Amino acid sequence: MKHGISEEDWQDYLDGVARPEVRERIDAHLPGCLSCWEFYEQMTASVADLRRAGEEALRVVTLSDPQLHRMLRNVFQELRQETSAEELQTEVQERLDVLQTVMAPYCGPQAAVRVMERAAQHSPALSLADVTTENWEPFLERLTKLAAALCGDTFARLIWERGQLASAR
Ligand SMILES: [Zn+2]
Repeated sequence: MKHGISEEDWQDYLDGVARPEVRERIDAHLPGCLSCWEFYEQMTASVADLRRAGEEALRVVTLSDPQLHRMLRNVFQELRQETSAEELQTEVQERLDVLQTVMAPYCGPQAAVRVMERAAQHSPALSLADVTTENWEPFLERLTKLAAALCGDTFARLIWERGQLASAR
């Protein structure tokens, strides 16, 4: 929960099924809040990337809208549990969130988490819980290499692009 907007509110909003009061609240909040606006843009971009990359790279996986939304919902649910346990920095958490959303349809939500764990273990962070903005870069490099080995260069490039921290831009 950030700025009074829960993950469920966000998910409903992104799905276009938010209750009117939720939609109005987010509509009113977004233009004035840079971090929420960036999160919103990243999420909508991730959904678009997913569809595009899914079509390009993995023709075996054809995602329907309901499937895509179900996957996103699962990702949010996993993240909610993780967030309360780990209390990662907001920006890092949001970025991990985006990466998981990008990866989950390719390898499943659980494998996505495992791959991210492994990338963290083989980077200066040593564990996913200890990834910070300071050690983000080597973590992302490791994750990109793993992604390339698993799913090829197109997918790896997507991970690299979506994994850039806003503060590093
Ligand atoms: Zn906000």
